[in-house]
Amino acid sequence: MIDSLENLVDALSKLPTIGKKSAWRMALHMLEQSDEEVHNLAQYISDLKERVVVCKKCYHYSESDLCPICSSPSRDNSLICVVEKPLDVFTIEKPGRYRGLYHVLGGVLSPINGITSDKIRIAELKTRVETEKPDELILGLSGSTDAETTSLYISRIFADNDLRITRFARGLPSGLELEYVDQITLGQALNERIDIHYTTHNDEETK
Ligand SMILES: [Zn+2]
Repeated sequence: MIDSLENLVDALSKLPTIGKKSAWRMALHMLEQSDEEVHNLAQYISDLKERVVVCKKCYHYSESDLCPICSSPSRDNSLICVVEKPLDVFTIEKPGRYRGLYHVLGGVLSPINGITSDKIRIAELKTRVETEKPDELILGLSGSTDAETTSLYISRIFADNDLRITRFARGLPSGLELEYVDQITLGQALNERIDIHYTTHNDEETK
């Protein structure tokens, strides 16, 4: 038993997509690395939990009360893109085309799994719409059934608000998580947004 090695392998193999084999390979590789490289890695991991907090406005990850996007004077405050998770913000930011703000829901509605509207940041979104008065909400959710339900739910909530509600153009493969969509497709989906309108008499989506 080499406890320090096996403890690390156990910890690494709990990470997503890392199996036991990869964990062993990573741990043995670290033994070959310089002291500095391994020390830096350990430091970055401990900094992560110490420094990273959630932005008070959009709920994206941040190292201060407001994330760099919310505190930037060059972002367009009239646009809020609603996403499921922080990873989606990184994905949409990558091509650098979107200039608006975000709202991270922290999940999508999934009644079967007990995720009801009070479990995700819908109330916070309502407050933001009331106080920040954006012109447009872009529903940047994935194509999964739960995400579709969530988009519908949100568009109904704001149906009576003076607010343009759009979604990414259909072009995003259905059921695919945002992070797997290539940047060109994502850029197009953002440019060619589709308006969603709901009335109290007709729940059908219309262009
Ligand atoms: Zn923020």
